Amino acid sequence: MPDVVQDGAVVSLAYTLKLANGEIIDYSEVDDPLEYLHGAENIIPGLERELTGLHVGDSKEVEVQPADAYGDYDPDEVEVVERSMLPKDMPLQLGTVLAIQDDENNLSEAIVRAISAKDVTLDFNHPLAGQKLFFSVQVLGVREASEEELAHGHPHGPDGEEDFDELDFEDFEDFDDDMDEDFEDEEDFEEED
Ligand code: ZN
Repeated sequence: MPDVVQDGAVVSLAYTLKLANGEIIDYSEVDDPLEYLHGAENIIPGLERELTGLHVGDSKEVEVQPADAYGDYDPDEVEVVERSMLPKDMPLQLGTVLAIQDDENNLSEAIVRAISAKDVTLDFNHPLAGQKLFFSVQVLGVREASEEELAHGHPHGPDGEEDFDELDFEDFEDFDDDMDEDFEDEEDFEEED
């Protein structure tokens, strides 16, 4: 396989991800690169598209519009609910990500945007919805994926082990960690009509 980023290639990438305000929200350094399988939607579409055709050693600045990243921000996804509708032991802090269960037992993630004595404002948009993303990327390596990797749709570690961590940038502000805890003590939540 030539040293070109293409479908079916496992790509090693160093990157920095910034928001429009310059804040760095994620990165992977040269000595600990991200590995992903190109063409398998391991990474957001707007970034994957711009990486296609790059050679090993190439660097690139990539600006990704919200629609090609985590979607546009939808004001209708923000709801004000009475505090009494939420489980009493639910940790309510500004910016906390909660796992909310609706009447149909669907779990969704919501960020606490405001808290008053009576109400809580929950934002069901993805934390990065509406954000333009700015990547600085450097292609460190390209190799042909194994058949097993292609079948699984993700790369494996050096000894073929399953150590792939989905790259969806949800590590943003310990998003995943918060979710795990919240899922453990999830309780029914009835939507206010
Ligand atoms: Zn696998």
